[in-house]
Amino acid sequence: GDGGVLPPPDPSVKVVARIRPTKDGENWGDRTVKKVSPRTLSVGDRTFSFDSVFDSKSGQEDVFQKVGVPLVKNALAGYNTSILSYGQSGSGKTYTLWGPPSAMVEDSRPDSCQGIVPRIFEMLFREIQKEQENSEGKQLNYQFRCSFLEIYNEQIGDLLDPTLRNLEIKDDPKNGVYVENLTEEYVTSYEDVTQILIKGLSSRKVGATSMNSKSSRSHIVCTFIIESWCKETSSKCFGSSKTSRMSFIDLAGLDRNKVDDSGRQCAREDKYVKKSLSRLGLLVNTLAKAPQTGKSEDVPYKASCLTHLLQESIGGNSKLTVICAVSPDNKNDGEILRTLRFGERVK
Ligand code: ADP
Ligand code: MG
Repeated sequence: GDGGVLPPPDPSVKVVARIRPTKDGENWGDRTVKKVSPRTLSVGDRTFSFDSVFDSKSGQEDVFQKVGVPLVKNALAGYNTSILSYGQSGSGKTYTLWGPPSAMVEDSRPDSCQGIVPRIFEMLFREIQKEQENSEGKQLNYQFRCSFLEIYNEQIGDLLDPTLRNLEIKDDPKNGVYVENLTEEYVTSYEDVTQILIKGLSSRKVGATSMNSKSSRSHIVCTFIIESWCKETSSKCFGSSKTSRMSFIDLAGLDRNKVDDSGRQCAREDKYVKKSLSRLGLLVNTLAKAPQTGKSEDVPYKASCLTHLLQESIGGNSKLTVICAVSPDNKNDGEILRTLRFGERVK
């Protein structure tokens, strides 16, 4: 029978698109990417469909309601969940996930600019507290761990301890895929997580001075592990435990032929970014064709650090949300179309 199988409350893959607002001084005339309905957008004469489309009229809270709220519910139900932020540099990937740096203030509740990740943590801890207050005879104990890493030129670095570089991915038959020696901080509150996010994001920023900075050449992955177990000896659930993980992935920019500040092409970095994004595309294609074989040998998880790390988070019984971030100007329509096509292929 279906004993032990979780009911599917939500599709396993969701794809949304967000068109960032036009900035002061930007004026694209007819060349704009436009939202045409709650689920479609147009680029010139082409139309793309998603689970939701956000434009300049949608704020961080709107994205949180559509993407973050279902994710928290899934995470509390025991699913592995993840959000991938995909698009070219300057399209709003980082803003959507974390918010502008000024919004990430210690000990603050989410303000209007905060990204969906801090909002997700705020809701998660609020929901757990509610559950603990209301539970009768089914009290759960929770433990939370958080890590934050960067993949730069196929090398894994620890954003919570920048002295740790070149970390290795290990496959453990019992505990799954993990990064050896990666810092895992135990946290108990939204404020604890905020401090970790601030620390991790500021480590990534080192050396970032322009659009062609390292921050657009690295993937960053924040992983949050929720372990819960029933502590009531008199309850039927006693001894049962659950582990789920949430992963938030801010991908390197999908940019062609980048040139750095001194006019040099960044060939080596480009090669790594292209390779890992294309391996991610292959993985997503394979899973889209055969969603039920999520954990089989044919799925090319080990093709890159990124896909290998996401083995537990993409495919199988996991919930993935892809956010396709696009700039409103379709001058770079190559990048925009590639971003939107990636989103279409995931479904
Ligand atoms: P990416 O991470 O894709 O390179 P960013 O998130 O850094 O792009 O966004 C580029 C710029 O646009 C930043 O200055 C950011 O604050 C701004 N921006 C992006 N999306 C929005 C949005 N939805 N609302 C307001 N400003 C935004
Ligand atoms: Mg960014």
